[in-house]
Amino acid sequence: MVDVLGAGPVAVLTGAGISTDSGIPDYRGPDSPPRNPMTYQQFVGDFAFRRHYWARNHVGWRHIARTEPNDGHRALAKLEAEGLVTGLITQNVDILHEVAGSRRVIDLHGRYDRVICLSCRRAITREHLAERLTALNPDYAAEVSDIEIAPDADAVIAATEGFQVADCEYCGGMLKPDIVYFGENVPKDRVLEAYAYVDQAEALLVAGSSLTVMSGLRFVRHAAKTGTPVVILNRGETRGDDLATLKVDGGCSPVLTSLAEIYTG
Ligand SMILES: [Zn+2]
Repeated sequence: MVDVLGAGPVAVLTGAGISTDSGIPDYRGPDSPPRNPMTYQQFVGDFAFRRHYWARNHVGWRHIARTEPNDGHRALAKLEAEGLVTGLITQNVDILHEVAGSRRVIDLHGRYDRVICLSCRRAITREHLAERLTALNPDYAAEVSDIEIAPDADAVIAATEGFQVADCEYCGGMLKPDIVYFGENVPKDRVLEAYAYVDQAEALLVAGSSLTVMSGLRFVRHAAKTGTPVVILNRGETRGDDLATLKVDGGCSPVLTSLAEIYTG
């Protein structure tokens, strides 16, 4: 890896695999069950579905808020402080890179701790929405454990029927987590900024992504097309393996920790 990455500057693209050691499951990992991701159309088009989503999210977002960065996140923050990494693009919404101390981060798919209004585009913190949802659903927390362990999906839906959803307090519009869902595009200016990170770098390091979706794969294609060497660090195959100068089949935490030790002496 050191041979390919050289003295940098290096752009980094990370995916779910870097956060698995923080306890956030990688749904596309080799050992993970298949799942049906929620689509943007489901969210905006179906009130019962949206209500169910917010009822679950009212509980679930706290789990993410309690997670902590792992050695992989910390190693990348160190490599940035050292001057090797000059920009980090992440497909994760958990903001663990920021918590670990990385500064130049593009949250390609948004961030879980922010909520936007689809009408007036105002953003609020997830914490602020949590206060409003708690006020609207004062007894809900008591029912939470039942919902989490309900064995079949219909029971889960029924259990969230009474949940009160909050709308935008400025314009009454529909609120949505500031997260890019399936069926939705990453905002154009964010994509252009990410391409600029890759263009400014002498190498691209992919860590913990199987590059299943085009939103990440396009940066690998772009780097390969412009002659920028690509290192892919991931457990299992990725869609970008053919384009990589070097593929390392391994875990992010141990490999990135070793890499940071080499560069920081
Ligand atoms: Zn609004």
